[in-house]
Amino acid sequence: MATKIPEANNRMFKNAFICKNCNTKIRASPLKILSKKVKCRKCKKTAFRTIKKK
Ligand SMILES: [Zn+2]
Repeated sequence: MATKIPEANNRMFKNAFICKNCNTKIRASPLKILSKKVKCRKCKKTAFRTIKKK
């Protein structure tokens, strides 16, 4: 009966993003993502989405 703990999930996914272009998972702070300081290591794009589904 493991209820999901929202806070734990947030912690897990908060700093992880997925490249919209090539689906590479990147770890970075949301601030950096928002300010486009993080580039995908594969395609060098700055379009990321969070890991949560849509
Ligand atoms: Zn990419």
